[in-house]
Amino acid sequence: MKVYAVLGDPVEHSLSPVMHNAAFRAMGLQASYHAFRVGINRLRDAILGADAMGFGGLNLTIPLKESAMAVVEPDETAVAIGAVNTVSFRGGIRGHNTDGVGASLALKHYGVNVKDAEVLLIGAGGAARAIAYQLSRDGAGIVVTNRTPQRGMALARDLGLEFRPFGEIEDLVRASDIVINATSVGMHEGDPRLFDGRILRSEQVVFDVIYSRDTELLRDARMAGAKAIDGVMMLVYQGAEALRIWTGREAPVDVMEAAVRAALRV
Ligand code: NAP
Repeated sequence: MKVYAVLGDPVEHSLSPVMHNAAFRAMGLQASYHAFRVGINRLRDAILGADAMGFGGLNLTIPLKESAMAVVEPDETAVAIGAVNTVSFRGGIRGHNTDGVGASLALKHYGVNVKDAEVLLIGAGGAARAIAYQLSRDGAGIVVTNRTPQRGMALARDLGLEFRPFGEIEDLVRASDIVINATSVGMHEGDPRLFDGRILRSEQVVFDVIYSRDTELLRDARMAGAKAIDGVMMLVYQGAEALRIWTGREAPVDVMEAAVRAALRV
């Protein structure tokens, strides 16, 4: 029986155990996946302990993704993003980041081609960095905006992208083919909108990385007749990519999606 886990703090509400255990069952693997609350001060102990105990692999979530860079041997993608969300133990303690690939595959899943598309990326946290890295590799033209300009400018500089001030957001939305919300705005009912959704148009795509609820942004997008994509498939595909890294096998994404949607009831 191989053991896998997600580490984080808080981690109680993580959907990763439900998603990965459903995948393991469907794949016929003798494996189980658990959530452990681990703070930054015990991260090194936890990762080394998991390695010593023969764990199959780990996922990392808030607030551990950046700190893990100092504990593992990060691959090229994790170095470029500056964060690790997946740890593997085959041939050393390796750090990976599958969030960007997850976002890219989620867009493909819904038939969205990002090559040469004008993408407005709102946000400059971990999710935004991963998405910016992968979508620029996929050939998208990305403009970044963020509430805190310093953080947005740092992301844009690190990845060679254009930064525009948050105050210009409505002009930036109007000028883009694909609008991506990579902030935490919309996680809670009553969060103020990032911009007036009435400016959206039917030929646009709106991708919201939030997966826990039907956000105001997604509702505005549907009202405008635009394509509205929630964060569920990004979550599923980042998990599927982690499974591929750990086991070398393709993951059953439909089973994983069903498990996540059943747990969320969305
Ligand atoms: P993070 O590193 O804390 O970054 C948060 C981002 O949200 C920053 O850009 C921050 O701007 C912005 N923000 C927060 N409150 C804001 C407000 N009131 N107005 C404007 N901007 C605001 O978080 P993260 O790890 O990137 O996660 C961001 C979201 O992505 C979360 O909701 C998370 O659940 C989701 N996520 C989804 C997936 C998936 O698989 N679907 C994967 C990873 C993350 P400042 O820089 O100005 O603070």
